[in-house]
Amino acid sequence: MKLGDLPIRDDLRGRTPYGAPQIDVPVRLNTNENPYGPSASLVGDLAEAVRRSAGDLNRYPDRDALELRRELAAYLGHGLAPEQVWAANGSNEVIQQILQAFGGPGRVAMGFEPSYSMHPIISTGASTEWVAGAREDDFGIDPAKAVAAIEEHRPDVVFLTSPNNPTGTALDPEVIARIVGAAPGMVVVDEAYFEFARTGTPSALTLLPDNPRLIVTRTMSKAFAMAGTRLGYLAAHPAVVEALLLVRLPYHLSSLTQAAALVALAHRDELLGTVDALRAERDAVVEWLRGRGLTVADSDANFVLFGRFADRRAVWQGLLEHGVLIREVGPPEWLRVSVGTVEEMAAFRAALEEVL
Ligand code: PMP
Repeated sequence: MKLGDLPIRDDLRGRTPYGAPQIDVPVRLNTNENPYGPSASLVGDLAEAVRRSAGDLNRYPDRDALELRRELAAYLGHGLAPEQVWAANGSNEVIQQILQAFGGPGRVAMGFEPSYSMHPIISTGASTEWVAGAREDDFGIDPAKAVAAIEEHRPDVVFLTSPNNPTGTALDPEVIARIVGAAPGMVVVDEAYFEFARTGTPSALTLLPDNPRLIVTRTMSKAFAMAGTRLGYLAAHPAVVEALLLVRLPYHLSSLTQAAALVALAHRDELLGTVDALRAERDAVVEWLRGRGLTVADSDANFVLFGRFADRRAVWQGLLEHGVLIREVGPPEWLRVSVGTVEEMAAFRAALEEVL
């Protein structure tokens, strides 16, 4: 039997799953992870927290993850209260819950592309029609055009990714404010890469007090170097969190996840301690690529979009043959490389020299 023989939903027929290749090569620079693993002492603390939690595994976890939300609120600052924070298994699950509560059949979600491919995929999974708005040549969003597109399509949910994946582009809070002002429904600012933004870049969290339909999502998968933990979270008006309680599965966040995330937050100085080095390495690779005559998008994230290649597949494949895996994503002619360790970036540069 084949997939197509199953009585699957019509809107899922012929679709392909999200698929960043997971290929075991020496240098993996394709999924925007933090390349630095936890120290031995942090591993010890994580193991101890899991050990303590394991003694209670016959019981369900705290359904509302109250302690974790308190600590996340404290980390975010901006005067946020725990009732304004919500957490789930990765920001992807947070986004799914948002669409379950505010999207759905007959409703529309909208984003400005090129952007994070999971926004339309999760929208489709939640039976929400996807409308693609456009970004400018420099990958920024023109607020007047965005407002016009919003007035035309009246989306129930608007996604703004800042810094944007795969381009690295951060949005000015004024642009976000204009869009929130025009949007008839919820506006989600996906700040998965916020901690990597150049210093002084304000967070959309600054707009929350005046905008009850604004949601800011974050994750521990990137700067926090905890992608394996699967912990994403959001900040919004407390009523938004109440809406998400209507759709979340009971006990969605395991006790082990909550315990690991709490340890990670307690050790945030160590975990976020690599951010400055990654920013510096990012700026260095941007400069190096430009020095090689390539076109490179300005980046506020831990990855860099560069091009332009008539045959980007050949460049991607050539790098892979040198043991370096990057990502074939974004507009045609462009490739994206995640920022790895100093050694990994040296390997990337050496391999690219060979390939070009
Ligand atoms: N948002 C953006 C913009 C991303 O790039 C990613 C990860 N690729 C996510 C959200 C999801 O991350 P996670 O589910 O690991 O929190």
